[in-house]
Order: sequence, then structure tokens, then C-alpha cells
Amino acid sequence: MKLKIYNSKSKFKENFNPIDKNKIRMYVCGPTVYDRAHIGNARPVIVFDLLYRLLRLIYKDKSITYVRNITDVDDKIINRSINENKPVNEITSETIRWFNEDNDYLNVLKPTHEPKATEYIPQMISMIDKLVSKNNAYVLDDGEVLFSVNSFDNYGSLSRQNLNSMNVGNRVEIDKRKKNPLDFVLWKPADKNNIGWNSPWGYGRPGWHIECSAMCKELLGESFDIHGGGIDLLFPHHENELAQSICANDTKQLANYWVHNGFVNIEGQKMSKSLGNYLTVEDLRKKDIYGAVIRFVLLSTHYRQPLDWTNRKVSEAQNILNRWLSFFDKKDVQIHGKPTKKILEALCDDLNSPLVLTEMHNLLKVEDFDGFINSMVFLGFTPNELNKKSNIKNKFDENNIHELINDLILARQTARDNKDYRKSDEIRNRLEKAGVNINDLGENTKWTLKPFFNPNKLLEEN
Ligand SMILES: [Zn+2]
Repeated sequence: MKLKIYNSKSKFKENFNPIDKNKIRMYVCGPTVYDRAHIGNARPVIVFDLLYRLLRLIYKDKSITYVRNITDVDDKIINRSINENKPVNEITSETIRWFNEDNDYLNVLKPTHEPKATEYIPQMISMIDKLVSKNNAYVLDDGEVLFSVNSFDNYGSLSRQNLNSMNVGNRVEIDKRKKNPLDFVLWKPADKNNIGWNSPWGYGRPGWHIECSAMCKELLGESFDIHGGGIDLLFPHHENELAQSICANDTKQLANYWVHNGFVNIEGQKMSKSLGNYLTVEDLRKKDIYGAVIRFVLLSTHYRQPLDWTNRKVSEAQNILNRWLSFFDKKDVQIHGKPTKKILEALCDDLNSPLVLTEMHNLLKVEDFDGFINSMVFLGFTPNELNKKSNIKNKFDENNIHELINDLILARQTARDNKDYRKSDEIRNRLEKAGVNINDLGENTKWTLKPFFNPNKLLEEN
């Protein structure tokens, strides 16, 4: 099956032709680790996880190298370190732990490499040194090193911006020391008390863009297949990465395919802390919204479109997945984890995940349980993952849960015998909200657990 992917550089959907089909290479810009990941950060993680799963299926598993970096030195991290009087590495290691927990919760596969920027400082310094020696960069009196966009004719070609019309000077105060207002920092001087490294230009630290250029070169080579990230990174981050990599490496191209996912809004509004609609994966987890539900909502819109996160979509996804996951228990299916041909076709058409979800409904309609369950596994929706990762069940011991449910069912029976229907209904509601299916069979009541069973709700009176 041939993969087609939209290339932000050409603005066309193109056939994916890897440089070497035995060595496919993808680089995705990862998080700056200073705070909990919000739902907008989770989107690229899920989108590129799906692309990674697809590449592993089309090509040989071991032929794919997927790099997703971690930016662990940055102004935001340093500011938090100063404000909270905590060492930088304490903040970054805690945030990396949160990020990994979130990704486990979302059932995201581990990339091949997750390089930390601070582990590639010598490579960054040598790249900057090369740019300075080639006159693609210049050094200011205080030791700051800037990339000169005038030195690279194709600057702006990736994001296709009309750079003259940007009126940079109207928005930000122009640094008079810059040759062009768009020149960007490669190295900036730092206070000796703060995090930094010695360099030919004095004590300091790297700019953000050079981190990715150095890490992708080290781990994937000077040119590779796919470079991904959120659409907000297209300019200036990716434009700058491209410019400095091409100039430093003397190559024609950094990546052949530039893939970007769209923004995430919340209930039709831009997400921001000031609007109070800022939503982290952790917030959702605390509300017992399962990783599979988050994954489902994020895949229900095509990756290039803006995605509107709404409560309605969340509860719809919960209902659909409750039904879908119930098929796992009933059917005796051999798990091989390969999707059906139609689902593969939809994915190969520029990751058409909304069509994939429609196809999933169709598979149930025609009772193709083998295709259905294996496609679910491929897409990362499996009940085992949910139970393992949710941590909710762990608070209760398996026997306690059974005892608690049996007690509630007995209490409901007693209430009914006493004609206290208000109470018996309350108990029934409580069981259903927790995810317990109840079947009254004459005198007996049988119960089963739904995949989204949440024992905490057993303890909550309505
Ligand atoms: Zn990057």
C-alpha cells in the first residue's frame, strides 16, 4: 500500500517515497519541559504516533527511526526555576516524568530516540561555529550569536511567507544590533549563576531552533524523510531549523516531507490560561476520562484541520468506546494487530482518521469482529491498556470490588422488597454510572463490568 501525505513545503498531497526504504527516518519536535502537557500538546503526540504505527506496518518494523526530542533548556524553564527557587534539572525531570505518564495513559508508543537538548551541547556549538565561519551567523559584543537570514536566499521558502509584509518592526521592538529584524538567536550569553556552558563566545546557552538542527543531524543524518510538529511551529521554528541546517550541512534539503497538525480549540474558543479553559491531560485523567477517549476525540477530526474539543464529543466518544470495547470480551478472535484493508487505505490517504472511525462502525455492522478487534488494537484502543494504565482499579482490590457490587445489589433487592423504589433506583443508577451492567433474571441479578468501569463511582450517592 502506497502512503500519501500532505507536504507543507509543496502544499500538495504527495506520494511518500523514502530516501531509503530500509531506513525510514522521522523527526518530530517534542515538548519544552516546564509544565503539564495540555490537550494541544497531546494532539501531535497522538497524530505522529498514528503515523509511526502506519510506517511500521507498511515498512519493516526495525527500519523506522522515530526521534522526538525534549527541550530541557529554555527561558520558560529557567523562569520557573527562578520563581520557584528549584534547580532546573528538578523541574525538567519532574516534567519529563509527567509527560511519560500522560503518554502511557494515551497508549502512545515510545519513539526510537528521545534526545534531551542538554545532552547535545557540543554538537550545537560546532554547528554554530561552522555557521559563523561561513558568514551565515555573526557574533555581537556581548557574546550573543545570531543567524543572518539575508545570508540564505531561500529563507521563507518553507512557510511561504512574504517576509517584507510581515512588518516585524511594528509588533516588536527591533533589536538595533540585528542586521535583519528576522535574524534569530543561535547562542545567548548567560549569567554564571544560571544554567549554561562554556563556548567560543563565552558562557551561555543555545537558542531553541539550533537544538533541533543538532539533534536531528546527530540521530538521523543531514537529510531525512519526515519532519513533523504542530502548525504553530512552521514559522519561525521550522523555517529557522531548515535555514541553519542547510547552511551548516551544505545540503539541499533537511527533510523531504514537512507534516503539520492543526490547532486545538476548546468549545469553539482558543485555549488560554486567562480564559480559564486551559485543559491538561492530567485534568482529564482526574475526571476519569480515559486515555482511549482522549485518543478517539483527537482522531475524530482530520489532523490538518483545527480540532474543537467539546464536552459533547467526549461523552459521545465514551459511549462509542464503551460499546466498541465490549466486543473484546465476547469474541474469540486471534489478535494480530493488523487493520483491515479499508482502514489501511484510509490511513494511507494522508491519515484520514475520521474515515477510519466510520469504517470501524461499518465493520461492526457486517459483524467482521476479527477486522474490528485487530483494527482497534492497531489504532491503540484496547481494554487491557485502559485497565493497566488508568490506575483507578488499583485503589481497589479485585475482591473488594466484587464484594462492594454484591452488597449494593443486595441492598437494591432489599429496597425493592420494601417497595422503596426511590432507593432501589438510586442504587441502580449508581451501579450504571460506575460501569456495571445489571441484568435482572427472575429472582437473580447478574452483573458484568463495562470496559470503562470506575469503582470510585460505586461510593458516590446520586
Ligand atoms: Zn524543533
